[in-house]
Amino acid sequence: MLEIKNLTAVTSEQEISRNQALILKGVNLTLKGGEIQIIMGSNGSGKSTLAKLLAGHPAYNMLHGSIIFRNEKLIRCLPETRARLGLFLGFQYPMEVGGVSNQDFLRLAYHSRYKKKDNILNTSLRFANKILNYVKILDMNSSFLPRPLNQGFSGGEKKKNEILQMAITGCELAILDEIDSGLDVDALKTLSKTILIYQLDGSFNSRFLQTTKSLILITHYQRLLEYIKPDKIQIMKQGKIVCSGKSNLGTIIDRKGYDWLSGVGSGLH
Ligand code: ADP
Ligand code: MG
Ligand code: MG
Repeated sequence: MLEIKNLTAVTSEQEISRNQALILKGVNLTLKGGEIQIIMGSNGSGKSTLAKLLAGHPAYNMLHGSIIFRNEKLIRCLPETRARLGLFLGFQYPMEVGGVSNQDFLRLAYHSRYKKKDNILNTSLRFANKILNYVKILDMNSSFLPRPLNQGFSGGEKKKNEILQMAITGCELAILDEIDSGLDVDALKTLSKTILIYQLDGSFNSRFLQTTKSLILITHYQRLLEYIKPDKIQIMKQGKIVCSGKSNLGTIIDRKGYDWLSGVGSGLH
């Protein structure tokens, strides 16, 4: 699904000024279809930069390395091409967009992804069903739909809205950046449940069908692990993945913090 090799990156400004202090310093990560991986790491370790670089954010440039997503070299693709390939990024700080209603935004995104596959009427009906279904699962009030995108939404409401976008537009790989921060316990439960329902969408009727949807969840909090069991936890420090392991690594980090991780390849597996 995703293979990142020796990725180094700077901000676009740094590249222009040739003051190339690396933010990402050789990231390696492999993720298979259907896997859930969690990335943890101290503040400023490069987690959001990695997420945004994968989505094609113009503020960051790759200097070396490679990113292969579903057999495509990602770095040559525009952000919209990456989205059509099935990559979704849920932002740490979702942007407020005045003048565009939440539902128009969702409808536009949905139609641009699915219109070629079916006629407009069927697409619209499916969209309406899907949105009602997920608004319910997410325990959101439908009065959010006509409101301007994210404007005046509370922190938790913004995060739910990111998950609504993911569920509506669909993707093969969702990267969710601190989707759990600022949530109360009930919202965290609802949101985790929705993520898991979404991941199994279309295949949860049959125990023989395996989902191929993958997730990368960036978080600071061990409590997310109570609801979502990852295949792997990756720890980032100073622009690198320095350690990876299973769920118990989250417990260790919760207890000991990140300071004891000294650097490259501290192998806890
Ligand atoms: P994390 O998400 O792990 O907390 P970030 O990826 O947001 O960390 O940031 C990694 C480092 O890169 C930080 O030191 C941050 O200040 C720096 N950085 C990120 N974006 C920019 C930018 N646009 N301009 C300058 N520095 C940046
Ligand atoms: Mg941070
Ligand atoms: Mg961040």
